[in-house]
Parts: sequence; C-alpha cells; structure tokens
Amino acid sequence: STLVEVRDLVKTYGEGDTATPVLKGLNLTLDTGELAALLGPSGSGKSTLLTILGTLMKPTSGQHLMLDQDLTSADDRELTEFRNRHIGFVFQFHHLLPDFTALENVIFPTAVKAGRETAAARARGRELLDRVGLGNRMEYLATQLSGGQKQRVAIARALMNQPELVLADEPTGNLDRESATQVMDLIGEINRQEETSFLISTHDERIAEICRRQIRVLDGSVG
Ligand code: ADP
Ligand code: ADP
Repeated sequence: STLVEVRDLVKTYGEGDTATPVLKGLNLTLDTGELAALLGPSGSGKSTLLTILGTLMKPTSGQHLMLDQDLTSADDRELTEFRNRHIGFVFQFHHLLPDFTALENVIFPTAVKAGRETAAARARGRELLDRVGLGNRMEYLATQLSGGQKQRVAIARALMNQPELVLADEPTGNLDRESATQVMDLIGEINRQEETSFLISTHDERIAEICRRQIRVLDGSVG
C-alpha cells in the first residue's frame, strides 16, 4: 500500500534575486516496506527532499501525504507528533552523545519526548541493540565504539518508536567500505523483517545497488 505520496513538490530557498529553486514539481510515491536509494549529484536536492519528507521543513508548494494524512495542512504541533510516532532518522554523522552508553543513546530521545524513561523503553532499547549486533556493547560508551558500531547504534535509536519510515541521509558517507556494506546489509535485514520502509540518500552507486529501488533526483524532479 502507499505510505508516502508527494505531488508537484516545489522548494525554493530565499526570495527575489537570491531565490534558489531546488525542487521543481517533484512527484514520488513510496510504498509500505520499500527499500529505496535516493541518488543524485551533490546539490541536487536530496537532503531538501528528505527534510520535507521528514516533516522538518514545509515545501514552498505541493502536496505531501503520509499514512493518508495531509501533512501540508498540518500545524507544527501536529507535525511533531506525527514525526515522533511515524518517522525515524539516520544521518551521515551518528550524533551520539559521547559520554553516554550505547543503550542510553538509544533510549534518550524517546525518554525526553515521553518526559520519563520507562522499563518498556529500556527493554525495547536492549532488544534493538541485540538486533543490530551490539548485544555485547550496550554498556560501552559511544566513544568506545567503532564508526560502524556507532552508526548501528544510530539505526537502533531511529527504530525505537517502530516508525513506518526511516529517512537516512548518507548513512554510510563517513564509513569505510566494509563498515558501509555491513550497515547497508543490516538496513536490508530490518527492512525485510519489520516492514519498515527506508529511503536512503547516497552518491555511492555500490550502496544504491543494495536497495531494491533507485530514485534519481535530477534538475529538481525525479526521473
Ligand atoms: P543534496 O543533498 O543533493 O546535496 P541539498 O538539498 O543539500 O542537496 O541542496 C540543494 C540545493 O539547495 C543546493 O544548491 C544548496 O546550496 C541549496 N540549499 C540547501 N539548503 C539551503 C538553505 N537553507 N538556504 C539556501 N540554499 C540552500
Ligand atoms: P570496525 O572494524 O567495526 O570498524 P574497529 O577496528 O574500529 O571496528 O574496532 C574494533 C573493536 O575495537 C570494536 O569492537 C570496538 O568496540 C573496539 N574499539 C574501537 N575503538 C575503541 C576505543 N576507542 N576504545 C575501546 N574500544 C574500542
């Protein structure tokens, strides 16, 4: 079934003489359970699209639907609630808190949003760290983990609230080739087992090949 739909999506940064049109009427549909790579040269608008799909920024115009909800007309409070429940994020840099353990890093965002740390959240955090192959590293500080391990913690963190969609912006951009392949294999496994949809921006064709679908952004739209 359809998870995300954007129609005639336009995003222009700035106004007047300095206006920079980035997305110029982009159309895209993502289905439940998809594993899709988002490709395109640097500056083509991949991050812009992910930021809009993540409800962190509104488009200049166009329609954005997810789970049959019209997000273009939602207010900030509704968007925050929607995002917390349905969308996970993974970035190029892991953004882990260095002086906290792997487990604390996975649980913290959820605990902060809930206003407390529940036993259920701790259990879910442990289960996810097991899942990403870090069952024996839960109490390690972030600084004691390798690059690939940190990114796997970031993936566990993104999955805490069982999001239907995970948006990943160059998740392997900072990793060596072997760790990058491991992280992609892990994403593929989670995608198959949990029906979580992933949209992963990359400019690495080898990484994109691991995905079942390749979406190319070119000149402000999708080819
Ligand atoms: P990609 O992720 O494909 O590299 P981006 O979405 O980051 O592309 O950027 C697309 C274009 O939009 C670039 O030309 C960039 O300079 C411009 N851009 C991105 N963010 C802003 C911003 N906040 N203000 C002005 N221009 C921006
Ligand atoms: P990878 O091949 O996964 O990138 P590394 O070669 O970076 O791993 O690290 C190998 C092992 O050493 C990992 O299991 C990691 O937990 C441990 N390790 C890496 N950096 C540190 C550190 N600064 N302190 C303690 N242990 C570390």
